[in-house]
Amino acid sequence: MEAKQTSLDQIVALCKRRGFVYQSAEIYGGLNGVYDIGPLGVLLKEQIRNAWKRSLATLDLDIVMFEGALLGPEALWNASGHTTNFHDPLVDCLNCKHRFRADDIDLAAACPRCGIQQWTEVREFHLMFKTSVGAAISSQHIAYLRPETAQSIFANFKNIMTSSRIRIPFGIAQIGKAFRNEITPKQFLFRMREFEQMEIEWFCHERDTVAFFDLWKGARLAFYHHLGISPARLRLRAHESQELAHYSQATTDVEYHFPFGWKELEGIACRGDFDLRQHSQHSGKDLRIFDEITKESFYPHVVECSVGIDRLLLTLLFEAYEEESVGDETRVVLKLHPSIAPVSAAFLSLNKEHVAATDTLYRTARAQGISVQVDHSGSIGKRYRRQDEIGTPVCITYDFDSVHDHCVTIRFRDSMQQERIPFNAIIPRIITLCGNSSAKNN
Ligand code: ATP
Repeated sequence: MEAKQTSLDQIVALCKRRGFVYQSAEIYGGLNGVYDIGPLGVLLKEQIRNAWKRSLATLDLDIVMFEGALLGPEALWNASGHTTNFHDPLVDCLNCKHRFRADDIDLAAACPRCGIQQWTEVREFHLMFKTSVGAAISSQHIAYLRPETAQSIFANFKNIMTSSRIRIPFGIAQIGKAFRNEITPKQFLFRMREFEQMEIEWFCHERDTVAFFDLWKGARLAFYHHLGISPARLRLRAHESQELAHYSQATTDVEYHFPFGWKELEGIACRGDFDLRQHSQHSGKDLRIFDEITKESFYPHVVECSVGIDRLLLTLLFEAYEEESVGDETRVVLKLHPSIAPVSAAFLSLNKEHVAATDTLYRTARAQGISVQVDHSGSIGKRYRRQDEIGTPVCITYDFDSVHDHCVTIRFRDSMQQERIPFNAIIPRIITLCGNSSAKNN
């Protein structure tokens, strides 16, 4: 499979130029692996979250949402196994001092940076950010920023089940930040130190695990197809037994063909009853549930689906980015699926006399909750290009004829074709094209 020709540099430049993503604290030299999200990035991330939530809602399954704290006490991470097991092997080049993840390079070969083969010993590097909580030194408690959203779900399993009066099989879904002190943060949003995850923990009876594992693999792949990601650049890959994480019985990754190779986009893991059993043992609280039929208590088993929003955002940008020749110009266009475009429509006035009328149309659409922009300055061609570059599916132009015929020109991003439509058809057309997601706050 040929990788798309879009380079990471093109995406990084676009993100900065148009306000999707900036290096965090850039004016102070930045913080490696940490990024700030600009206005368009905020809109796009919100679209991604909404698409993910909608994809869960359309499955005929019971799923509740949850939002756990970012800080967790040491005891929580002792129980989950993270204080002991959550590390990566690191190695330094003695010559150029560059640091690598030992599993990323061949230690029998020379350093890929300086060409000398002189390595330190491989050491385990702990990936969690440690801090302390409490004002007085004597009463301080060690806490960690969570490296995954999952554990707060397991620790709250009984609370959620009891308060929601829900029975297995059911899912608890969470969207939120996670933090990992990655050894080599690289490839922009692919490997960050602060990132956001969208996770589902699916609780079921052990005997149903295989069937639900298959169901989730299918559902998650369908989600990516629905977002318009080319099936040829997606695949499911089952982990070899030696790759499995400490909690996992089986894991399949949804992989995407990035310009830097096939890489994990989402992990789908059978976690068994590892987590609930661990938290029961460490906390002394019984997290088993009671089976009315067999009259026995048991630990539900868990299938987990976990994807990073930022990694998905990067994937969607790679997938959507095109450079096309139009006449003797190059047009950069983001062919994002209209349902996730950060801006659904842009309203443009042809000259100064049309500004007020264009603003009225723009405000009417905005009042409906549609994500819109208005732009009055520059040549119309340049304004179209600016919207193409951020993936806006349609531009609506108010011109000389609009004053008399109460129609506007609607211009489509992908085909660049134009059509004349009446004022009262504008909002229905945007909603038909972009779906409910065109409304920002639903
Ligand atoms: P990798 O093998 O790439 O380090 P992982 O197997 O450690 O990933 P998981 O713990 O399965 O990752 O995390 C679930 C998802 O969270 C990943 O599929 C990815 O989309 C996202 N993710 C994990 N680590 C990062 C990171 N450092 N930056 C951005 N997203 C991440």
